[in-house]
Amino acid sequence: MNKIIERDVIVVGAGPGGSTCAAYLAREGVDVLLMDKETFPRDKTCGDSQAEVTMEHVKELGAYEEVKKAGYCNKGFLLTSPDYSKAYLDAPGERYTTPRRIFDNIMKNTAIRCGAEMIEDCWVYDVIKEDGQVKGVKAKYQGEYIEFRSKIVIGADGSHSMVAKAIGIFPDNPVCTGAGLRCYYENVPMEKYLEIHFDQNVLPGYIWVFPSGNREGVANVGIGINLDVYDSKTLKEYIDIFIETSPYGKRLKDARQISEWKGWRLPTGPQAGENYDAGVMLIGDAGSMILPLTGEGIGPATETAKMAADTALDALKANDFSAEFLKAYADKRHDTYDIKYKSIMTLDDVFRNPQNINGIVKRYNLDPIFKEEVLKQMFFAHSKK
Ligand SMILES: Cc1cc2nc3c(=O)[nH]c(=O)nc-3n(C[C@H](O)[C@H](O)[C@H](O)COP(=O)(O)OP(=O)(O)OC[C@H]3O[C@@H](n4cnc5c(N)ncnc54)[C@H](O)[C@@H]3O)c2cc1C
Repeated sequence: MNKIIERDVIVVGAGPGGSTCAAYLAREGVDVLLMDKETFPRDKTCGDSQAEVTMEHVKELGAYEEVKKAGYCNKGFLLTSPDYSKAYLDAPGERYTTPRRIFDNIMKNTAIRCGAEMIEDCWVYDVIKEDGQVKGVKAKYQGEYIEFRSKIVIGADGSHSMVAKAIGIFPDNPVCTGAGLRCYYENVPMEKYLEIHFDQNVLPGYIWVFPSGNREGVANVGIGINLDVYDSKTLKEYIDIFIETSPYGKRLKDARQISEWKGWRLPTGPQAGENYDAGVMLIGDAGSMILPLTGEGIGPATETAKMAADTALDALKANDFSAEFLKAYADKRHDTYDIKYKSIMTLDDVFRNPQNINGIVKRYNLDPIFKEEVLKQMFFAHSKK
């Protein structure tokens, strides 16, 4: 028989979602076990940008000073259009770009500091389901196959989530799923903005150049594109074209590539399922929570982490782990996110047409009322309701 370990709550995955959720639970005295298949610090393919909403949780959990030291404090966005015009979108709050290898380690340590137990190098391969209710997970840890039993399982295991697949909530609609590729360069001249380039040769999609980390001139460079428009070119070929043809790409020829290119899947929110069932809740990428168009997923991961932690606390108090009780989590999520997804999706068609983007950037620079509205929309989608 497999070895059995019991905890009140098991959180699968120690990305920003899982660590935030475990931290919120542990600081309320919950017996919580956070587990990850990797050994930290570990890399995660990402643009490294932490929006204001993420920073709110970072501050609340006491990790602000560490992130501030390790990250790059940027001023907002610099958008460029297919005709190479540019627009500066100054953010109202504090945003950082911290390499995920460092950021995720800080958040994992924060969860431990709050009282969570953490095990690394622990590969979860199935959920335990009894009488229609999830009652833990099965994992391989230190060479042993172990049943980790719990009252609640939080699936925070990212965009290829095993927990989501095991409970049958794994949407994969190409219109709502993106592919991303990124690598690091050094010696890149940049202003203090997160650059988003809507280049005519890579549309629809965009290329980013983000100052990242606490060393000046280090850039996280990448591309994000929707799977429904992905053609015969590889993502790397789009980047090569940008470097060859764009006035904003040319400087990368003189910069030094300091990491390999890595790709990953981006499941966005309009396809998200209900993300709960008896004994289980899915948060962050495991619940397909990424904001469409922008690709911001760390904010939604940390926000859904807090929502799931609050619901789990109520469930533990009531000793009720039924689907009916955990529906409160879905209600909170719908309340906050449905309107965000809807407002971003109204722009989806607009950003598929080069003339539209040229027109928007031009108008943004000439029309102060339009500019104010764009900033409101932009940062509304990036901040709390
Ligand atoms: C190219 C790219 C660029 C992006 N840029 C940005 C950006 O700049 N800003 C932003 O906000 N978002 C960005 N995103 C999205 C962002 O990376 C994700 O939304 C975010 O990482 C979600 O956090 P999470 O905690 O839900 O999952 P993850 O960060 O993916 O963490 C999941 C964890 O689960 C662990 N795990 C997985 N399977 C198992 C298993 N079977 N057993 C045990 N552990 C397991 C993994 O090792 C991992 O540590 C980007 C995504 C991509 C692909």
